[in-house]
Amino acid sequence: MNWKQPKVYAVQHKSETVRAASRSGGIFTAVSDWILTQNGIVYGCVLDESFRAVHIRTECAEDRDRMRGSEYIQSELGDTYKNVRKDMTNGRIVLFNGTSCQVAGLKQYLGKEYENLLCVDIVCHGVPSPKVWEEYLHW
Ligand SMILES: Cc1cc2nc3c(=O)[nH]c(=O)nc-3n(C[C@H](O)[C@H](O)[C@H](O)COP(=O)(O)OP(=O)(O)OC[C@H]3O[C@@H](n4cnc5c(N)ncnc54)[C@H](O)[C@@H]3O)c2cc1C
Repeated sequence: MNWKQPKVYAVQHKSETVRAASRSGGIFTAVSDWILTQNGIVYGCVLDESFRAVHIRTECAEDRDRMRGSEYIQSELGDTYKNVRKDMTNGRIVLFNGTSCQVAGLKQYLGKEYENLLCVDIVCHGVPSPKVWEEYLHW
């Protein structure tokens, strides 16, 4: 990282349909599309059938589309970090999307740089507690 002169790009997806389906400018779709064309794997957050925010692994655009949009709850990572390492060890290109602390956690877990790992962290002011969300659902 060049801290003295960081490179900053403001981008938006060319497709209005993609932008409308995304929370912000849709860069996630553009980057993950490229990863999928490279036979890569995408990890990101979805809201499951029980309304829990969870990280899932996918190799297809349909599941990737489910990752679009912001779930304002701390997501459950489960075995995600382990699976990311396994995929990379098997030579696959991996895209991990999450909050900056999830990305920092993954890098800490891996302990070294991998050429076949691309991390994208969302702009994030912090994640609301899953417990508050659970109580809201009960209510
Ligand atoms: C908890 C949270 C806090 C946020 N805080 C801010 C903020 O302070 N300022 C601001 O401008 N924007 C904030 N956002 C919005 C966020 O930056 C945009 O959703 C994102 O930039 C959208 O980019 P996109 O259009 O390319 O992504 P999309 O195509 O809409 O894809 C959404 C991406 O966000 C990831 N994601 C969604 N929910 C979660 C979650 N709970 N945990 C981890 N990853 C998740 C998905 O995996 C996917 O990669 C926040 C979003 C979340 C989920």
